[in-house]
Amino acid sequence: MCRLEDAQKSCWVVGGCVRDSLMGKMPTDWDMTTFATPQEMTDIFADKRLLLAGLSHGTVGVIEDGQVYEITTFRLESGCSDHRHPDKVLFTDNIVQDLTRRDFTINAMAYHPQRGLLDCFGGQLDLQQGIIRCVGQPDMRFEEDALRILRALRFAAVLDFSIEQDTLRAMRQKAALLREISVERIWSELEKLLKAPAAGKVLSVCPKIFREILLEMPAIDTCDAEVLSKLPQDAVLRIIWLYGRLEKNAAPALKRLRCPNVAVQRAQVFHQLQMDAPSNTLELRYALNRFGEVAVEEYVLLRRLIDKTEFSDNLKSAKAGCWKAAQLCINGKELLDLGCPRGKEVGEVLEGLLKLCIEEKLDNTATVLRQEAQKQIAEIKNRKQQ
Ligand code: ATP
Ligand code: MG
Repeated sequence: MCRLEDAQKSCWVVGGCVRDSLMGKMPTDWDMTTFATPQEMTDIFADKRLLLAGLSHGTVGVIEDGQVYEITTFRLESGCSDHRHPDKVLFTDNIVQDLTRRDFTINAMAYHPQRGLLDCFGGQLDLQQGIIRCVGQPDMRFEEDALRILRALRFAAVLDFSIEQDTLRAMRQKAALLREISVERIWSELEKLLKAPAAGKVLSVCPKIFREILLEMPAIDTCDAEVLSKLPQDAVLRIIWLYGRLEKNAAPALKRLRCPNVAVQRAQVFHQLQMDAPSNTLELRYALNRFGEVAVEEYVLLRRLIDKTEFSDNLKSAKAGCWKAAQLCINGKELLDLGCPRGKEVGEVLEGLLKLCIEEKLDNTATVLRQEAQKQIAEIKNRKQQ
């Protein structure tokens, strides 16, 4: 910052870090905006490690002490025919113009060590009163970039703020434009939103907006909103719960948002478990065998939240027994030593032994398993001779 100032290129801290500092929170990243052009910045910071991926829209990342400082040339944007990207990015020498292109009043403040806080749109007051309000005319701002609709909801959920009436009206009116936004940008905002403390409240205020991005999202009342906000801060888990309340599968919605495969799989497995509904020790032990510990624990947690059924004692006893081949007190090599034919027969015997242990018809001890294995191997050999 000093270097830019020394070069007569005024430089301001801007956006989220000003907002967070005014709220007494330590900002996670530092964004700055400057009169210097990208070329001038790369010259001024020639001796530093730089990130230049954002150069075409005026951003240079300067790395110092392991921290990235993103510095962007004062910018204004014009036109936005696709509701996603400005048609033209113009550099300007005017910090106020740069602030005018920013989304919400609380994000449109800048700070300069000598000149102090620059707050042209009442951001500080909105911050004190807990209000998300567009900079400028809301309909136009959402038409320029419909992702701002979701960003408004994200900030409302993270900060537990309310959304100013005219901004909210425009968000509802322009919600369909969200369909034109790339799913990657949507997921990145949605994930932050769903993890946030006031996520439930926000979902219950604007169900129609969420239906534009979350396929057939089930409605949520104030009671559900409270439950949601108490769930672990895990966006995927919260989505699974949202759908699971109505026995719906969240996997297609996650897939459409191109969430990582593990997330889609997780939703699919929960839905399968919800349909199978294992509840006693034996059923849960089979579920552990088929889906693994993490999935079954999640199922038990979510069932408790969804319909107040409590399976944790049963799960404990299920886990206390043997439920996977690796736990058996015998292995494939020992079966071969006992004369088991090489090939699929080894797996067959192990599976047979596991089934008997899962059902507690056999003790999982080396002696008992060896005895039973010998019996089964003899049967296999008999079968083969016939
Ligand atoms: P976070 O704490 O999540 O980083 P942030 O406010 O810093 O919050 P960023 O996405 O990092 O959010 O964006 C930095 C700043 O850039 C914002 O504060 C805002 O001024 C501006 N900004 C970001 N996205 C948009 C957008 N879609 N439209 C207008 N301004 C935006
Ligand atoms: Mg930021």
